[in-house]
Amino acid sequence: MKAEIISVGTELILGNILNTNTYYLSKRLWEIGIEVLYHTSIKDEPKFLEEALNIALGRADLLIFTGGLGPTSDDMTKEVICKTLGIDMELNKEAEKDIKDYFYSLNRPMSGNNIKQAYLPKGAQYLINEIGTAPGVYIENSGKKIIMLPGPPKEMKLMFNKYVIPLIKQDYIIKVQTINTIGIGESSLETILMDLTSSKNPTIATYPKEGQVDIKLVAKGYDEDKVDCLLKEMKERISGRISEYIYSYKDEKIEEVIVNKLKRKKLKIAICESCTGGLITSKLTKIPGVSEVLERGIVTYSNKSKVEEVNVNKTTLDKYGAVSEEVALEMAQGILEKAGVDIAVSTTGIAGPTGGSNKKPIGLVYIGIATRNSSYAIKSIFKGDRESIQNRAALKAFDELRKIL
Ligand code: ATP
Repeated sequence: MKAEIISVGTELILGNILNTNTYYLSKRLWEIGIEVLYHTSIKDEPKFLEEALNIALGRADLLIFTGGLGPTSDDMTKEVICKTLGIDMELNKEAEKDIKDYFYSLNRPMSGNNIKQAYLPKGAQYLINEIGTAPGVYIENSGKKIIMLPGPPKEMKLMFNKYVIPLIKQDYIIKVQTINTIGIGESSLETILMDLTSSKNPTIATYPKEGQVDIKLVAKGYDEDKVDCLLKEMKERISGRISEYIYSYKDEKIEEVIVNKLKRKKLKIAICESCTGGLITSKLTKIPGVSEVLERGIVTYSNKSKVEEVNVNKTTLDKYGAVSEEVALEMAQGILEKAGVDIAVSTTGIAGPTGGSNKKPIGLVYIGIATRNSSYAIKSIFKGDRESIQNRAALKAFDELRKIL
């Protein structure tokens, strides 16, 4: 099935708002195996809508319109589609009741023009809007599926997931398997997986995020066992090639994996951060239940604090400088002792945009890891702006933790 998304709204064309609906719908449609061929954005004017509809009917099987279902006269998506296709509109009693109930629940009077929203194309399926007034519409016309959803993203997403997906999936089974990777770039991954990426079923796509790449496999078919088998086989083939970079198959964050591993092993952790300024601790504290494993996280930004808080040797600082393997190591060992934990992590580096030198460039970061049995520090050089360097350093620290855990 080939899809086209048509966004209706002058504010989109004028650049007053970002068209997030198209982004969201394309992503979700792809995840369920439907390829979006075109994105069209148009002004709230009948002639553009009619033209867009006719063009889309000629090149797609599934047309999804968002916006222009409101009560005002410039909201005319349904009206123009009906006129163009020669379909009459009629009052849908269920939609009328829902709109009235909606206003009643808000303790607000319903304005007269809201009744316009309850008029739907004859024979259309009414898609309930639980959090707004504009009903959604599903019609089938000459073998084409036409869907109209309201513009507000919250309403659109809820209705798309609850009503549209079951309608367009029907008895077709679509399953997604995510593979979360870290420590390898998208282009290296693509080179390793080159011969597999042209697979049609399952399809394989890579989604790069900063310092990480998610791989999504989507398998489709009418037989669930076959779909599962296709997915399992491809997952195993990919895992066989890049196992050292895979941290999860559950579409989760690396820090969630770390916290779960620490919990399972009943280990306590402490963090001592300089250049990441608390980012590692902050990411960890976003995971519910982390208090079971996180003993403390401190920021020792100045040399003085490194000496006072985690017993870094003043002579080490003088000899090697704050951004050095030796200091990273002493920071990690220092907090391990002070907090009495099983594992400790430290960061020290130059996040930029100033402060770099030939010997110690911007992006240079040392990460220290200390456990009861051994300690080491690793050197990395990250590219990007200050925020990006800090984020990559935090991810690298999590990657190191993953490896030793
Ligand atoms: P309503 O009855 O809520 O007005 P509607 O279907 O008429 O529903 P529009 O009036 O077209 O929706 O859009 C309402 C608001 O939804 C816009 O002002 C905008 O903030 C948001 N919106 C519309 N289309 C998009 C889009 N493609 N991406 C992101 N936001 C959008």
